[in-house]
Amino acid sequence: MPHKRQPRELWRETRRRIHERDLGRCQGPYCADKPAWSLPLSEAHVDHIRSGKLGTNADDNLRLLCRRCHVLRLNGRHRGMIGKALRDGLIPPDWRRYLWNDGDATPPLPPGEGDGN
Ligand SMILES: [Zn+2]
Repeated sequence: MPHKRQPRELWRETRRRIHERDLGRCQGPYCADKPAWSLPLSEAHVDHIRSGKLGTNADDNLRLLCRRCHVLRLNGRHRGMIGKALRDGLIPPDWRRYLWNDGDATPPLPPGEGDGN
């Protein structure tokens, strides 16, 4: 199945389910030490681990990310979010060095205004 957006109603269900499964915690590298249920559903992003032709909307291809980890994921499809995240102070001006991909070591991220802490 190609990566295709689910109808809005179905996607809402999917988001809720992934939020439950991931215990309300961002699965990104910058949130490994965050407690369960630290990411409210309303702020949660659901990320396609594999996107494009290989990606599906199956649960095992989806994971919960906070906005910052989502923005910083090394993925051309996320570029549109960078400008606004910069303006919001969510990511530092040298954000490029914090881009991550699965399996990569990531440098510690300085706390940002958008950290919510
Ligand atoms: Zn995160």
